[in-house]
Amino acid sequence: MEQVDAVVIGAGVVGLAVGRALALQGREVVVLESENAIGTGTSSRNSEVIHAGIYYPAGSLKARLCVQGKHMLYAYCAERGVAHQRVGKLIVATGPEQVAALDGIVAKAAANGVHDLHKLSAQEARALEPALACEAALHSPSTGIVDSHGLMLALQGDMENAGGLLARVSPVRRIGLREGTASHPIRVTTEDGTELACKVLVNAAGLNAVALARGMDGIEKTALPQAHYAKGNYFTLAGKAPFLRLIYPVPEAAGLGVHLTLDLGGQAKFGPDVQWVDDPADLQVDPRRGDAFYAEVRKYWPALADGALQAGYAGMRPKINGPSEAAADFMVQGPAEHSVPGLVNLLGIESPGLTSSLAIAAEVCTRLA
Ligand SMILES: Cc1cc2nc3c(=O)[nH]c(=O)nc-3n(C[C@H](O)[C@H](O)[C@H](O)COP(=O)(O)OP(=O)(O)OC[C@H]3O[C@@H](n4cnc5c(N)ncnc54)[C@H](O)[C@@H]3O)c2cc1C
Repeated sequence: MEQVDAVVIGAGVVGLAVGRALALQGREVVVLESENAIGTGTSSRNSEVIHAGIYYPAGSLKARLCVQGKHMLYAYCAERGVAHQRVGKLIVATGPEQVAALDGIVAKAAANGVHDLHKLSAQEARALEPALACEAALHSPSTGIVDSHGLMLALQGDMENAGGLLARVSPVRRIGLREGTASHPIRVTTEDGTELACKVLVNAAGLNAVALARGMDGIEKTALPQAHYAKGNYFTLAGKAPFLRLIYPVPEAAGLGVHLTLDLGGQAKFGPDVQWVDDPADLQVDPRRGDAFYAEVRKYWPALADGALQAGYAGMRPKINGPSEAAADFMVQGPAEHSVPGLVNLLGIESPGLTSSLAIAAEVCTRLA
């Protein structure tokens, strides 16, 4: 059996950020990825938004790691030349009954340490975005967009420069927490029978993380959540984007509402919606869901023409709460939670996981220290 200091499962943005952070600490790291390339999971099926950290409950991991991660991400992108843009976003109240909710959002953001939101009248909002229909809006100047693949390549490069190794086409099949060697007690077995003994194991397997944690031999199962999946469908806009900033409605229960995001090429897309599914591999977009998009989008962009939206792509949220349960926080389970030295499970790393990736990596290092 080969011995290595640390194994990270999953080469999405979170696994790569963790691999980089551990390698920069001087650890010998191997990142095991089941696919033939990095970032083929949720990390390449999202909105690529750098979230400001506005909506999450005060004191939650999502709030803390999003705000911390946003600052780290802007600094990292600038330092490493990863394409990004601080485009800003408008959160729009489309009916008079939603105007009061904007004040609640300002208060929530302030509790999370986000103090840069400005309230705009309808007229002020339209001066920024003439195509917009709203009663009032909030401007978030620290919201941005990032090239997620460029980010992952930079993280991989840093990790490899620090001596870390990425092993592609290496699906982890089995984990025995007390089956390694005396000095490296955790044994990880991949699909082809390769066995690695390690001191540190970080489970960053995204949609598969709960199943892997549940399958670990030697862990208390009662503290582990159930996995649920909520698909987010996108529809793309043919032609020129009508807005310069991201446009979000006042948020709904399970997601942030059908919002408009821009990519770095200036192309607009709408979504994601929320569709609870049983199969995490179900990533087809049903074009009929577009009907609901027209109605939602026209609340803030009445000029949306019939036939302008095309079915785009979908991403899958790795939920750890069911449809009728309250939204769950990120679950970072380290030795203090499950009493297994060297193990960290990253569960329910849905949005804002991309924004938070560098902060999650720092959190993992803290939990392992
Ligand atoms: C619709 C949608 C929109 C989103 N928009 C945003 C946004 O705008 N901003 C933001 O901050 N966040 C956003 N997110 C959240 C963000 O995309 C995720 O939090 C982040 O990508 C999670 O990264 P990850 O590395 O944990 O998971 P993943 O990217 O899923 O990576 C997990 C990796 O583990 C691998 N793996 C799985 N099982 C095994 C195994 N047994 N052995 C080896 N490898 C394995 C997979 O192949 C995969 O590569 C969005 C999410 C969704 C679904």
